[in-house]
Amino acid sequence: MPFDRCVAPRTGATQRSWPYHIDTHMSALLLDGRAFAQEMRVELQAEVRSFREQRGLPPQLTVIQVAGDASSDRYVRSIRKLCDTLGVAFRLEHLPADSTQETLNATVAGCSADPAIHGILLQMPLPAHLQADQAVWHLDYRKDVDGIHPANAGLLAQGRLALVPNTPAGGMALLQRYNIDVVGKRAAVVGRSAIVGRPMALLLVQSHATVTICHSRTPDLGAILRECDLVAVAAGRPALVTGDMLRPGAAVLDFGINVQPDGSIVGDVDFASAVEAAGALTPVPGGAGPVTNVMLIRNLLSAASENALTS
Ligand code: NDP
Repeated sequence: MPFDRCVAPRTGATQRSWPYHIDTHMSALLLDGRAFAQEMRVELQAEVRSFREQRGLPPQLTVIQVAGDASSDRYVRSIRKLCDTLGVAFRLEHLPADSTQETLNATVAGCSADPAIHGILLQMPLPAHLQADQAVWHLDYRKDVDGIHPANAGLLAQGRLALVPNTPAGGMALLQRYNIDVVGKRAAVVGRSAIVGRPMALLLVQSHATVTICHSRTPDLGAILRECDLVAVAAGRPALVTGDMLRPGAAVLDFGINVQPDGSIVGDVDFASAVEAAGALTPVPGGAGPVTNVMLIRNLLSAASENALTS
Protein backbone atom coordinates (compact mmCIF):
# COMPACT_ATOMS: atom_id res chain seq x y z
CA MET A 1 0.00 0.00 0.00
CA PRO A 2 1.40 3.41 -0.87
CA PHE A 3 2.03 5.95 1.84
CA ASP A 4 -1.04 8.08 1.20
CA ARG A 5 -2.14 7.67 4.77
CA CYS A 6 1.15 8.53 6.43
CA VAL A 7 0.78 8.99 10.13
CA ALA A 8 1.34 12.55 11.28
CA PRO A 9 4.40 13.38 13.41
CA ARG A 10 4.49 11.96 16.94
CA THR A 11 4.67 15.26 18.79
CA GLY A 12 2.98 18.54 18.01
CA ALA A 13 6.28 20.36 17.58
CA THR A 14 6.81 19.51 13.91
CA GLN A 15 3.20 20.09 13.01
CA ARG A 16 3.07 23.55 14.62
CA SER A 17 6.27 24.80 13.08
CA TRP A 18 5.46 23.44 9.67
CA PRO A 19 4.96 26.26 7.16
CA TYR A 20 4.24 23.99 4.21
CA HIS A 21 0.62 23.28 5.08
CA ILE A 22 -0.29 26.83 4.15
CA ASP A 23 -0.88 25.86 0.52
CA THR A 24 -4.00 23.72 0.56
CA HIS A 25 -3.42 22.51 -3.04
CA MET A 26 -0.47 20.43 -1.93
CA SER A 27 -1.34 16.82 -1.40
CA ALA A 28 1.89 15.21 -0.13
CA LEU A 29 2.79 15.18 3.53
CA LEU A 30 6.00 17.22 3.65
CA LEU A 31 8.73 15.65 5.75
CA ASP A 32 10.12 18.54 7.74
CA GLY A 33 13.83 17.87 8.19
CA ARG A 34 14.49 21.18 9.96
CA ALA A 35 12.02 20.46 12.74
CA PHE A 36 13.21 16.86 13.01
CA ALA A 37 16.85 17.96 13.18
CA GLN A 38 15.94 20.34 15.99
CA GLU A 39 14.25 17.52 17.91
CA MET A 40 17.33 15.37 17.44
CA ARG A 41 19.62 18.18 18.61
CA VAL A 42 17.69 18.30 21.89
CA GLU A 43 18.03 14.51 22.29
CA LEU A 44 21.72 14.56 21.39
CA GLN A 45 22.44 17.39 23.82
CA ALA A 46 21.05 15.22 26.64
CA GLU A 47 23.06 12.20 25.44
CA VAL A 48 26.27 14.25 25.26
CA ARG A 49 25.60 15.56 28.78
CA SER A 50 25.18 12.05 30.15
CA PHE A 51 28.32 10.88 28.27
CA ARG A 52 30.28 13.69 29.91
CA GLU A 53 28.86 12.79 33.35
CA GLN A 54 29.80 9.13 32.96
CA ARG A 55 33.22 9.58 31.35
CA GLY A 56 34.28 12.92 32.83
CA LEU A 57 34.92 14.34 29.36
CA PRO A 58 32.84 15.10 26.27
CA PRO A 59 32.95 13.07 23.05
CA GLN A 60 35.59 14.52 20.73
CA LEU A 61 35.25 15.02 16.98
CA THR A 62 38.29 15.79 14.86
CA VAL A 63 37.85 17.15 11.35
CA ILE A 64 40.82 16.73 8.99
CA GLN A 65 40.63 19.39 6.31
CA VAL A 66 43.02 20.21 3.50
CA ALA A 67 42.81 23.92 2.63
CA GLY A 68 41.52 25.19 -0.69
CA ASP A 69 37.75 24.72 -0.90
CA ALA A 70 35.46 27.57 0.19
CA SER A 71 32.32 25.43 0.54
CA SER A 72 34.30 23.06 2.80
CA ASP A 73 35.20 26.02 5.02
CA ARG A 74 31.50 26.83 5.38
CA TYR A 75 30.62 23.20 6.14
CA VAL A 76 33.39 22.85 8.73
CA ARG A 77 32.22 26.08 10.42
CA SER A 78 28.68 24.66 10.60
CA ILE A 79 29.99 21.41 12.15
CA ARG A 80 32.00 23.38 14.71
CA LYS A 81 28.91 25.42 15.60
CA LEU A 82 26.81 22.28 15.97
CA CYS A 83 29.45 20.71 18.23
CA ASP A 84 29.55 23.87 20.38
CA THR A 85 25.77 23.85 20.70
CA LEU A 86 25.68 20.19 21.73
CA GLY A 87 28.68 20.28 24.07
CA VAL A 88 30.83 18.10 21.81
CA ALA A 89 34.60 18.81 21.80
CA PHE A 90 35.68 19.89 18.32
CA ARG A 91 39.21 19.87 16.90
CA LEU A 92 40.32 20.89 13.44
CA GLU A 93 43.46 19.47 11.79
CA HIS A 94 43.90 22.03 9.05
CA LEU A 95 46.52 21.02 6.47
CA PRO A 96 47.96 23.32 3.81
CA ALA A 97 46.64 22.92 0.24
CA ASP A 98 50.03 21.60 -0.97
CA SER A 99 50.21 18.81 1.65
CA THR A 100 51.52 15.51 0.35
CA GLN A 101 49.63 12.23 0.41
CA GLU A 102 52.13 11.01 3.03
CA THR A 103 51.31 13.97 5.32
CA LEU A 104 47.58 13.38 4.91
CA ASN A 105 47.94 9.64 5.55
CA ALA A 106 50.11 10.28 8.62
CA THR A 107 47.60 12.81 9.99
CA VAL A 108 44.73 10.36 9.57
CA ALA A 109 46.80 7.59 11.17
CA GLY A 110 47.85 9.85 14.07
CA CYS A 111 44.25 10.86 14.84
CA SER A 112 43.16 7.22 14.56
CA ALA A 113 45.75 6.22 17.17
CA ASP A 114 44.90 9.08 19.56
CA PRO A 115 42.66 7.69 22.33
CA ALA A 116 41.32 11.19 23.10
CA ILE A 117 39.65 11.32 19.67
CA HIS A 118 36.36 9.45 19.34
CA GLY A 119 35.40 10.38 15.79
CA ILE A 120 37.23 11.51 12.65
CA LEU A 121 35.77 13.29 9.64
CA LEU A 122 37.97 13.50 6.56
CA GLN A 123 36.55 16.58 4.88
CA MET A 124 35.88 16.30 1.14
CA PRO A 125 36.70 17.37 -1.47
CA LEU A 126 40.45 16.95 -1.28
CA PRO A 127 42.75 18.78 -3.73
CA ALA A 128 43.15 16.87 -7.00
CA HIS A 129 46.64 15.58 -6.14
CA LEU A 130 45.39 13.74 -3.01
CA GLN A 131 43.58 10.39 -2.98
CA ALA A 132 40.81 9.93 -0.41
CA ASP A 133 40.78 6.20 -1.24
CA GLN A 134 44.38 5.95 -0.04
CA ALA A 135 43.96 8.10 3.07
CA VAL A 136 40.93 6.14 4.21
CA TRP A 137 43.04 3.00 4.74
CA HIS A 138 44.82 4.91 7.54
CA LEU A 139 41.52 5.66 9.27
CA ASP A 140 40.39 3.51 12.18
CA TYR A 141 36.98 2.30 10.92
CA ARG A 142 35.66 2.48 14.49
CA LYS A 143 36.17 6.29 14.41
CA ASP A 144 34.80 6.71 10.87
CA VAL A 145 31.82 8.96 11.67
CA ASP A 146 31.18 9.66 7.96
CA GLY A 147 30.86 5.95 7.14
CA ILE A 148 33.40 6.10 4.29
CA HIS A 149 35.73 3.27 5.35
CA PRO A 150 35.42 0.06 3.30
CA ALA A 151 35.10 -1.91 6.56
CA ASN A 152 31.95 0.03 7.43
CA ALA A 153 30.60 -0.38 3.89
CA GLY A 154 31.28 -4.13 4.21
CA LEU A 155 29.63 -4.39 7.61
CA LEU A 156 26.58 -2.57 6.26
CA ALA A 157 26.48 -4.84 3.20
CA GLN A 158 26.54 -7.85 5.53
CA GLY A 159 23.67 -6.40 7.55
CA ARG A 160 25.89 -5.95 10.62
CA LEU A 161 26.35 -3.00 12.95
CA ALA A 162 28.27 -0.27 11.10
CA LEU A 163 28.93 3.44 11.08
CA VAL A 164 26.64 4.42 8.21
CA PRO A 165 27.05 7.49 5.96
CA ASN A 166 25.11 10.38 7.44
CA THR A 167 22.82 11.28 4.54
CA PRO A 168 21.17 7.87 4.04
CA ALA A 169 21.11 7.34 7.82
CA GLY A 170 19.23 10.65 8.05
CA GLY A 171 16.82 9.52 5.33
CA MET A 172 16.00 6.35 7.26
CA ALA A 173 15.58 8.37 10.47
CA LEU A 174 13.14 10.71 8.71
CA LEU A 175 11.07 7.76 7.48
CA GLN A 176 10.99 6.37 11.00
CA ARG A 177 10.13 9.77 12.45
CA TYR A 178 7.06 9.95 10.25
CA ASN A 179 6.12 6.31 10.82
CA ILE A 180 6.63 5.45 7.17
CA ASP A 181 6.97 1.71 7.35
CA VAL A 182 9.08 0.14 4.59
CA VAL A 183 8.65 -3.53 5.53
CA GLY A 184 7.62 -5.49 2.45
CA LYS A 185 7.39 -2.32 0.34
CA ARG A 186 8.81 -1.88 -3.16
CA ALA A 187 11.52 0.78 -3.09
CA ALA A 188 13.78 2.35 -5.70
CA VAL A 189 16.98 4.26 -5.06
CA VAL A 190 18.17 6.52 -7.88
CA GLY A 191 21.96 6.83 -7.62
CA ARG A 192 24.60 4.29 -6.57
CA SER A 193 27.35 6.41 -4.99
CA ALA A 194 29.22 4.95 -2.00
CA ILE A 195 28.14 7.86 0.21
CA VAL A 196 24.39 8.11 -0.56
CA GLY A 197 22.68 5.78 -3.06
CA ARG A 198 24.36 2.45 -2.31
CA PRO A 199 24.14 2.66 1.53
CA MET A 200 20.55 3.93 1.25
CA ALA A 201 19.63 0.83 -0.76
CA LEU A 202 21.35 -1.42 1.79
CA LEU A 203 19.59 0.28 4.71
CA LEU A 204 16.25 -0.21 2.98
CA VAL A 205 17.01 -3.89 2.36
CA GLN A 206 17.99 -4.20 6.02
CA SER A 207 14.60 -2.71 6.89
CA HIS A 208 12.94 -5.41 4.76
CA ALA A 209 12.04 -3.38 1.66
CA THR A 210 12.45 -4.90 -1.80
CA VAL A 211 14.89 -2.56 -3.49
CA THR A 212 15.84 -1.64 -7.06
CA ILE A 213 18.98 0.46 -7.55
CA CYS A 214 18.82 2.79 -10.57
CA HIS A 215 21.67 4.75 -12.16
CA SER A 216 22.63 6.65 -15.28
CA ARG A 217 22.42 3.54 -17.50
CA THR A 218 18.97 2.52 -16.25
CA PRO A 219 16.51 2.66 -19.16
CA ASP A 220 12.97 3.98 -18.55
CA LEU A 221 13.43 5.17 -14.99
CA GLY A 222 9.75 6.14 -14.76
CA ALA A 223 8.59 2.57 -15.45
CA ILE A 224 10.58 1.36 -12.44
CA LEU A 225 9.66 4.22 -10.11
CA ARG A 226 5.94 3.89 -10.88
CA GLU A 227 6.05 0.37 -9.37
CA CYS A 228 7.48 1.65 -6.09
CA ASP A 229 5.95 2.73 -2.78
CA LEU A 230 9.17 4.49 -1.82
CA VAL A 231 11.57 6.43 -4.04
CA ALA A 232 14.89 7.84 -2.79
CA VAL A 233 16.77 10.07 -5.22
CA ALA A 234 20.47 11.00 -5.02
CA ALA A 235 21.60 11.76 -8.55
CA GLY A 236 22.59 15.44 -8.53
CA ARG A 237 20.27 16.12 -11.50
CA PRO A 238 17.60 18.82 -11.04
CA ALA A 239 14.05 17.66 -11.87
CA LEU A 240 15.22 14.15 -12.83
CA VAL A 241 12.11 12.69 -11.18
CA THR A 242 8.76 14.23 -12.04
CA GLY A 243 5.30 13.60 -10.63
CA ASP A 244 4.22 11.43 -13.59
CA MET A 245 7.07 9.01 -12.78
CA LEU A 246 5.68 8.34 -9.30
CA ARG A 247 3.12 5.88 -8.08
CA PRO A 248 0.29 7.97 -6.58
CA GLY A 249 0.83 8.20 -2.82
CA ALA A 250 4.49 7.10 -2.91
CA ALA A 251 6.91 8.37 -0.27
CA VAL A 252 9.77 10.33 -1.84
CA LEU A 253 13.13 11.19 -0.29
CA ASP A 254 14.96 13.82 -2.32
CA PHE A 255 18.64 13.97 -1.35
CA GLY A 256 19.65 16.17 -4.27
CA ILE A 257 21.34 19.50 -3.62
CA ASN A 258 21.65 21.46 -6.87
CA VAL A 259 22.65 25.11 -6.86
CA GLN A 260 20.79 27.02 -9.58
CA PRO A 261 22.32 29.92 -11.55
CA ASP A 262 20.38 32.36 -9.33
CA GLY A 263 21.92 30.79 -6.21
CA SER A 264 18.75 28.98 -5.12
CA ILE A 265 18.88 25.29 -4.23
CA VAL A 266 16.68 22.61 -5.75
CA GLY A 267 16.60 18.86 -5.36
CA ASP A 268 16.55 16.05 -7.91
CA VAL A 269 12.76 15.81 -7.77
CA ASP A 270 10.51 18.29 -9.55
CA PHE A 271 8.73 19.58 -6.45
CA ALA A 272 5.68 21.16 -8.17
CA SER A 273 4.57 17.97 -9.92
CA ALA A 274 5.81 15.50 -7.28
CA VAL A 275 3.95 17.18 -4.43
CA GLU A 276 0.67 16.50 -6.26
CA ALA A 277 1.45 12.84 -6.87
CA ALA A 278 3.39 11.75 -3.77
CA GLY A 279 1.95 10.78 -0.40
CA ALA A 280 5.00 12.08 1.43
CA LEU A 281 7.92 14.15 0.18
CA THR A 282 11.06 15.82 1.50
CA PRO A 283 11.26 19.43 0.30
CA VAL A 284 14.58 20.89 -0.84
CA PRO A 285 15.81 22.78 1.04
CA GLY A 286 14.50 21.76 4.45
CA GLY A 287 14.04 18.01 4.00
CA ALA A 288 16.88 15.48 4.04
CA GLY A 289 19.67 18.08 4.18
CA PRO A 290 19.27 19.41 7.74
CA VAL A 291 19.18 15.87 9.16
CA THR A 292 22.60 14.96 7.72
CA ASN A 293 24.74 16.98 10.16
CA VAL A 294 22.96 15.77 13.25
CA MET A 295 23.44 12.17 12.10
CA LEU A 296 27.18 12.89 12.20
CA ILE A 297 26.89 13.52 15.94
CA ARG A 298 24.71 10.41 16.32
CA ASN A 299 27.56 8.45 14.68
CA LEU A 300 30.10 10.16 16.94
CA LEU A 301 28.20 8.97 20.01
CA SER A 302 28.03 5.46 18.57
CA ALA A 303 31.77 5.55 17.85
CA ALA A 304 32.47 6.82 21.36
CA SER A 305 30.57 4.00 23.04
CA GLU A 306 33.00 1.26 23.81
CA ASN A 307 32.86 -1.87 21.67
CA ALA A 308 30.13 -0.34 19.51
CA LEU A 309 31.26 -2.16 16.38
CA THR A 310 32.89 -5.19 17.89
CA SER A 311 29.94 -6.66 19.77
P1 NDP B 1 27.41 11.14 -7.35
O1 NDP B 1 27.65 12.04 -8.51
O2 NDP B 1 28.54 10.46 -6.69
O3 NDP B 1 26.39 9.99 -7.81
C1 NDP B 1 25.28 10.29 -8.59
C2 NDP B 1 24.56 9.03 -8.92
O4 NDP B 1 23.41 9.37 -9.69
C3 NDP B 1 25.40 8.07 -9.77
O5 NDP B 1 25.24 6.75 -9.32
C4 NDP B 1 24.81 8.23 -11.17
O6 NDP B 1 24.84 7.06 -11.94
C5 NDP B 1 23.37 8.58 -10.86
N1 NDP B 1 22.77 9.33 -11.95
C6 NDP B 1 23.27 10.44 -12.56
N2 NDP B 1 22.44 10.83 -13.56
C7 NDP B 1 21.42 9.96 -13.58
C8 NDP B 1 20.28 9.81 -14.39
N3 NDP B 1 20.01 10.65 -15.41
N4 NDP B 1 19.43 8.79 -14.14
C9 NDP B 1 19.67 7.93 -13.12
N5 NDP B 1 20.76 8.01 -12.31
C10 NDP B 1 21.62 9.01 -12.56
O7 NDP B 1 26.57 12.01 -6.33
P2 NDP B 1 26.29 11.81 -4.74
O8 NDP B 1 25.67 10.50 -4.50
O9 NDP B 1 27.47 12.21 -3.96
O10 NDP B 1 25.20 12.95 -4.54
C11 NDP B 1 23.94 12.88 -5.17
C12 NDP B 1 23.15 14.12 -4.82
O11 NDP B 1 22.95 14.14 -3.43
C13 NDP B 1 23.86 15.43 -5.16
O12 NDP B 1 22.90 16.39 -5.55
C14 NDP B 1 24.51 15.84 -3.87
O13 NDP B 1 24.69 17.23 -3.78
C15 NDP B 1 23.47 15.34 -2.89
N6 NDP B 1 24.01 15.06 -1.57
C16 NDP B 1 23.27 15.44 -0.53
C17 NDP B 1 23.69 15.27 0.74
C18 NDP B 1 22.80 15.70 1.85
O14 NDP B 1 23.27 15.98 2.93
N7 NDP B 1 21.47 15.73 1.64
C19 NDP B 1 25.00 14.68 1.03
C20 NDP B 1 25.68 14.16 -0.12
C21 NDP B 1 25.19 14.39 -1.39
P3 NDP B 1 26.23 6.37 -12.42
O15 NDP B 1 26.73 5.63 -11.21
O16 NDP B 1 25.81 5.48 -13.51
O17 NDP B 1 27.13 7.48 -12.84
